[in-house]
Amino acid sequence: MTAAPTAAPEVLRRVFGYESFRGEQQEIIDHVAAGGDALVLMPTGGGKSLCYQIPALVRDGVGVVISPLIALMQDQVDALRALGVRAGFLNSTQDLDERRLVEAEFVAGELDLLYLAPERLRVESTLRLLDRGRVSLFAIDEAHCVAQWGHDFRPDYLALSQLHERWPEVPRIALTATATEATHAEIASRLKLQDARHFVASFDRPNIQYRIVPKDDPKKQLLTLLREEHTGDAGIVYCLSRNSVEKTAEFLVKNGIEAVPYHAGLDARTRAEHQARFLREDGLVIVATIAFGMGIDKPDVRFVAHLDLPKSVEGYYQETGRAGRDGLPSTAWLAYGLQDVVQQRKMIDGSEGDDAHRRKLTAHLEAMLALCETVTCRRAQLLDYFGQRTDASSASCGNCDTCLTPPESWDGTIPAQKILSTVVRLKRERGQKFGAGQIIDILLGKKSAKVIQFDHDALSVFGIGTELREAEWRGAVRQLLAQGLLAVEGDYGTLVLTDASAEVLGGQREVRLRRDPVRAAKAPRTSTPRQRAAPVDLPEAAVPVFEELRAWRAATAKEQGVPAYVIFHDATLREIATASPTTLDELSALNGVGETKLAKYGPQLLTLLTPNA
Ligand code: ADP
Ligand code: ZN
Repeated sequence: MTAAPTAAPEVLRRVFGYESFRGEQQEIIDHVAAGGDALVLMPTGGGKSLCYQIPALVRDGVGVVISPLIALMQDQVDALRALGVRAGFLNSTQDLDERRLVEAEFVAGELDLLYLAPERLRVESTLRLLDRGRVSLFAIDEAHCVAQWGHDFRPDYLALSQLHERWPEVPRIALTATATEATHAEIASRLKLQDARHFVASFDRPNIQYRIVPKDDPKKQLLTLLREEHTGDAGIVYCLSRNSVEKTAEFLVKNGIEAVPYHAGLDARTRAEHQARFLREDGLVIVATIAFGMGIDKPDVRFVAHLDLPKSVEGYYQETGRAGRDGLPSTAWLAYGLQDVVQQRKMIDGSEGDDAHRRKLTAHLEAMLALCETVTCRRAQLLDYFGQRTDASSASCGNCDTCLTPPESWDGTIPAQKILSTVVRLKRERGQKFGAGQIIDILLGKKSAKVIQFDHDALSVFGIGTELREAEWRGAVRQLLAQGLLAVEGDYGTLVLTDASAEVLGGQREVRLRRDPVRAAKAPRTSTPRQRAAPVDLPEAAVPVFEELRAWRAATAKEQGVPAYVIFHDATLREIATASPTTLDELSALNGVGETKLAKYGPQLLTLLTPNA
């Protein structure tokens, strides 16, 4: 395609079927289309792809996209072809003939976009191939892979700094969804993009509802969430260990929810198959360790649930960010409890590496705990963490659990003193150390076998804590750990005092605690339970049509062997169901209906919408 940069809005409408640019898309596209270098930090779902796809379409030559995720290249290329864009890829999954064909298309200028795995660029023959064709731009996707915090692709990514030397006239655009300042700086210096224009978008994801609930029976809590709010929805459940991944997936299946496991212990084929099913099918749940998810651009992931505490706020943000790329309402749900804190502290103590490394891990954990225990807006705190301060006035987002049902904070100084003095007594009088369970049994005056065995019913603190229930004591211990007023030690999670404990015991320091909701009440989103996967704001009357469209889409996708979203996104189906167009013109006005899809599916859709016509 040949056209001046001014053609960008036209390409947006004609090819992608979208009415207007989002956020800074237009500025970025104009800048790159005019030959400028760019570094783009934009959250997942922000619309990074268009930022290099449109310049590639309006500039002469082929846009070369470097992406480490070879398992997803086929889907990316399929999605582009479905829009009528001439796209191809080169990676190690192809045989020689397939590769030759793509190479010939590239040299002949018969492609708009060419996807390349980064390791290809370390091979001289690839570089010579690029010399034989005409490159319109280099897009470096997942650019955080150059950063120090370790990715498998790092050496390949570091080599990308040479693109600039070999093809100084070709503009480069690097993109990432990583929000931290440190990574931003590192990408700029490693890829020699200091002189590029930097575009940093807001990292807010307004359509994601953040909820963090006290963990009590996590599998059951998850099941309730799925049954009450996400029936038939696609989603990701994250667990820390392979074992809990397996158990949770089994549990969901037993309870009638379609779910598959994903972790590094499964063989590569099973893993690839489960990932492919998740991408292709509507409404499958994948239960995974954090090894799953990078680059997954399934737009309609409706929930991300964490059954264990993420190790850092960065991790939490990246993982939850995989929900709702299509901008429709989605849930980020995390169940978190005392055991998580104990376990993670233990992992840090036992971790390899020097003290500086452990301090870093501790700082990460502490920031995550602060997010869990906050009584103020989770979103505000999250953005604050990434240095994107919200004004005090807008520090209530209305779409996180603490904004929807503000938790109370209460003066927990006396219960804190009771916990701490029990720890002191055991240590001072008897040289013993115990975990939270025993301390709580003692406070409640429970004559458990272990209490009797150690004669703990003879302690003066035995039974002094009947004013709180067991769950409340656990909540209090958890929060003391989170606030650094108590620490855990050794393999058994025994509780010990910290330097700060003395101030509490001496009465010089007040302890504020968050009152956990009695039941992990779900935040009110709508007054009526959601229909099967129908977006909340879909009018009642349009729901059956939406369902019909989904069934049509599933059948069409299956026939073509592509993911359902390659045909149309949920957001587009929703618009079609709501607007009920009766002519091709009306249909083409809807978001996500470009020229190619209109020609291909328009007539079928109109028949489907007006069966009696
Ligand atoms: P990212 O790569 O930043 O995570 P994508 O490029 O996958 O995001 O875009 C996220 C979703 O938003 C996709 O479904 C995409 O089609 C849609 N989208 C992007 N830009 C626009 C726009 N200007 N108008 C409407 N939808 C858009
Ligand atoms: Zn909020």
